[in-house]
Amino acid sequence: NWKRKRTETERQAWYKHWLLTSTRHAKELRLFGLGDYFRERYRDLRAILRNEILGMARRRAAAELGAQGSATILVYGSFAFIAWRAFQGEISLGDVVMYFQAIQRGLSSLRGLLGSLAGLYEDSLYLSNLYEFLDLQAGITSPDQPVPFPASSGSPAVRFERVSFTYPSGPSPVLKALCLEIEPGETLALVGANGSGKTTLVKLLCRLYDPDSGRIGVDGVSLTDLDLEELRSHISIVFQDFARYQLSARENISLGEITSADDLPRIRRAAETTGIDGLLSDLPDGYETRLGKWFREGSELSTGEWQKVALARAFFRDADIVVLDEPTASLDARSEKEVFAHFRDLAGSRTALLISHRFSSVKIADRIAVLDSGSIVELGTHDELMRQDGLYREMYTVSAEAYR
Ligand code: ADP
Repeated sequence: NWKRKRTETERQAWYKHWLLTSTRHAKELRLFGLGDYFRERYRDLRAILRNEILGMARRRAAAELGAQGSATILVYGSFAFIAWRAFQGEISLGDVVMYFQAIQRGLSSLRGLLGSLAGLYEDSLYLSNLYEFLDLQAGITSPDQPVPFPASSGSPAVRFERVSFTYPSGPSPVLKALCLEIEPGETLALVGANGSGKTTLVKLLCRLYDPDSGRIGVDGVSLTDLDLEELRSHISIVFQDFARYQLSARENISLGEITSADDLPRIRRAAETTGIDGLLSDLPDGYETRLGKWFREGSELSTGEWQKVALARAFFRDADIVVLDEPTASLDARSEKEVFAHFRDLAGSRTALLISHRFSSVKIADRIAVLDSGSIVELGTHDELMRQDGLYREMYTVSAEAYR
């Protein structure tokens, strides 16, 4: 029974997921005329599921038939043996009745016992999955005796020393003996082709993964010697796929530093730096308006506006290291300029890493590092790299030509 319920729940969960993703992409589905295609795939998948369930039911019926058949043969065989013995005069009629009743009772208890054992076996299959899941160990843990985060002036140096890394599921190394130093208080821009490993470098800096070899240090202290939570509390970050929390505008920004959730003046200052304060104040309930469209009372923002909220969230956090991964991809040119005008003030003494494809943003950095095939191939200011006539100059020229 339990098993059947579980299958039903799984089926429903799958169906909900399908419905959700298909409605989320409703525009695309309609535009590309994909409705029939996905309906057909869904139908095929249901047919596969149905066949599998039918196969299971068939196997179970066959097993039950076999068990029942052997039990029946055994019982009638015993009866025949008893009857034959009585016929021979070896046992009395009273004995026949006694054996008959004993077999009947024994059989029903045995059936109950076997049924319970089969149930136990079935349940243990699910339990072993559960125990396997509960036994999973976190791959990345804090050391037993962590070193305190270096109490520098709020702008630590970050150093990657011969860092190599391959994703557990990846075929080849993404970073190869990469060396890079971000100086205290410096804004370093990281550029490189798609898939060259820029985001991976950021993931290693937050210790979402540990490098296979090499070392990452903050002010000379290896990341592996720091407490995980403490390390992450010193980093503020906006990833490319930033979150759109279906919460109020105030909460969306204050999640950057949850302990200051009620400090509205500070929240507004963070929103001003990304140029979204005016829009949020003008919402029906101002900063208390729920963002997003999951709830009826929510106000939906455009992608660029959401990105400004995500940036404000990162700026709201009082962290020593700021990482912006494609922070202005959805912003128009004027918004981008505005954000970066503030970014210089905001980054102030903080150490900042900026990943961007937009050279207008990259140019504001103190230095630029070019990542290619998992290593840093060029490093310097915009002017220096332009003089070098290497990969940076090529990328810049292609981008400028496209722009013209
Ligand atoms: P970039 O940010 O420079 O575009 P990424 O760091 O995101 O590049 O990715 C670098 C490479 O690592 C890509 O080839 C990508 O396919 C691979 N990769 C990224 N994330 C994962 C992952 N979670 N598992 C396996 N491979 C990954």
